[in-house]
Amino acid sequence: MAVVLSSGMYETKAWGVVNQQDFINMCVEIETQLPPIALLEALQSIEQQTGRQKSYKWGPREIDLDILFYGAEVIDEELLKIPHPYAHLRRFVLEPLAEIAPELVHPLIGQTIKQLLVRL
Ligand code: AMP
Repeated sequence: MAVVLSSGMYETKAWGVVNQQDFINMCVEIETQLPPIALLEALQSIEQQTGRQKSYKWGPREIDLDILFYGAEVIDEELLKIPHPYAHLRRFVLEPLAEIAPELVHPLIGQTIKQLLVRL
C-alpha cells in the first residue's frame, strides 16, 4: 500500500453526536494491489494497532479509516459499501477530498467531487 497524495488536516465539529471534541479529518489517495475486502481488513488492522477502543456510533475514537472510493467500482455488500454511502453528503469528506481528487467522478451520482462540494 503506497500513499500517492494526502490532503491537509481539517479540524471539524463532530457530526451526528455533537456534544464531544472536534475531529480531525483528512483524505489520502493510495495505490494498492489489495482487492476491496482485503483492503478493508488491512485498514481495520491498522485501526486496532493504533489502539482504537470500542465507542458508540459516531462517538469519539482514536482513528477511523474508511474507504471512500475504489476507482470507479461500486460495491454494495453487508460489510463494505463503496462509494462510502455518506461521502457525498459530508463537507468534512468532500473538502479534503477536493484537495487531492477534485475531478474524481462519483460513480453513482455522475458528478465530480468539486461539483458535489459546491452543491452541498
Ligand atoms: P466504523 O465504526 O466507521 O469504523 O465502521 C466500520 C464498519 O463499517 C465496518 O464493520 C465495515 O464493515 C463497515 N463499512 C462499510 N462500508 C465501509 C467503507 N466503505 N469503509 C469502511 N468501512 C465500511
